[in-house]
Amino acid sequence: MNRPNSERLYAEALEHIVGGVNSPSRSFKAVGGGAPVFMQQGQGSRFRDVDGNEYIDYLAAYGPIITGHAHPHITEAIVRAAQNGILYGTPTELEIKLAKMLKDAIPSMDKVRFVNSGTEAVMSTIRVARAYTNRSKIIKFAGCYHGHSDLVLVAAGSGPSTLGIPDSAGVPASIAQEVITVPFNDLPSLEEALHRWEGQIAAVMVEPIVGNFGMVMPAPGFLEGLCKLTHDHGALVIYDEVITAFRFHYGSAQTFAELDNHDAIMPDLTALGKILGGGLPIGAYGGRKHVMDQVAPLGPAYQAGTMAGNPASVSAGIACLEVLQGEGVYEEMNRLAIRLTDGIAESARRRGVPLTINRIRGSFSTHFCDHPVTNYDQAQDTDGEAFAAFFRGMLDRGICLAPSKYEAWFLTTAHTDADIDATLAAADETFKSMR
Ligand code: PMP
Repeated sequence: MNRPNSERLYAEALEHIVGGVNSPSRSFKAVGGGAPVFMQQGQGSRFRDVDGNEYIDYLAAYGPIITGHAHPHITEAIVRAAQNGILYGTPTELEIKLAKMLKDAIPSMDKVRFVNSGTEAVMSTIRVARAYTNRSKIIKFAGCYHGHSDLVLVAAGSGPSTLGIPDSAGVPASIAQEVITVPFNDLPSLEEALHRWEGQIAAVMVEPIVGNFGMVMPAPGFLEGLCKLTHDHGALVIYDEVITAFRFHYGSAQTFAELDNHDAIMPDLTALGKILGGGLPIGAYGGRKHVMDQVAPLGPAYQAGTMAGNPASVSAGIACLEVLQGEGVYEEMNRLAIRLTDGIAESARRRGVPLTINRIRGSFSTHFCDHPVTNYDQAQDTDGEAFAAFFRGMLDRGICLAPSKYEAWFLTTAHTDADIDATLAAADETFKSMR
């Protein structure tokens, strides 16, 4: 598949935009380098690039595009919002509607605040937790990615680990000292950290289902233990559900049927983003009333935003959630993902390519290894060159994946059986070419 126009645009982009991309995860650095594909149109499950090539999209813009590209209900909502004036700087009724939809779906959120990205949402939860507990340190888990704010760019996964920058330059050592990183699915390490820094930990931050070193479920009892230990030590539990909210079912990990004992795994604060903006920029955070009441103008923790809760993003978000409330929507993504992962696994086996697939409903990750992947070490200990070969083979056969061995594949409501058939054929040929 030739992409001369992408190559030309990439050369031009390099002159004007740092690294040619506006987010490092879009670069092809981790898969052998060269020009990333410049897309110019998305429709349903398909992309068309600037050279006229078509692709089936499993990137879903790293998660938000769960209804496929240009979904008419969302497009209509955005056009309506634009026609009514895109930004007021005043409260609107729309914000109340989306806040109520979030509260109905995520029971631990008594109060909500909208922001503009997942990064902001996470950053704000940390400030609130610190204000509430009057402590400064946080504990996070190796390989979990929580956006690019200073505090959580320590041993982060996703983009930073792909590029081999676990600690970003520009994060002061004094800030990195405020963060303790422990392995995911490892309660004894968490307990040890809570003891060691007794009385200093404001919060334990976790992706309750990991999406940033592949898709990884918490081991049975892990979240219960995490919540209990954290609360026993006077700290707050923060769930980063930027990827997971509305991803697997209409709700979040907190009420996901595949996790037990929901009462025992409720966080104090939750950070949201991605899907809930229907593709427009958004983030949100929320939690228990007495905790959220720390936030200005009610309380002493300051957090603000010119664009926060803007009518366009909020309208797109409402429309997206309305689509997701449709009958059987998640079951269909689940069915297609099962077909796809069963087929890929069978094909890899037949072609002699070691592959571990972690599937959670309509999302999954492919790890080129012959061991399970339940923590970051195991996710790192996989064959990056095999992934790069697979990624490029798939791309040249019209299948668009994220250019990183740590990112997930996302099914959308727009994918069809015909997409799965074409993807399986491409995967089989790619595996064959990899031997
Ligand atoms: N938290 C998680 C779990 C994420 O996956 C991401 C982005 N991939 C973020 C936070 C940051 O969100 P944003 O890119 O919207 O700032």
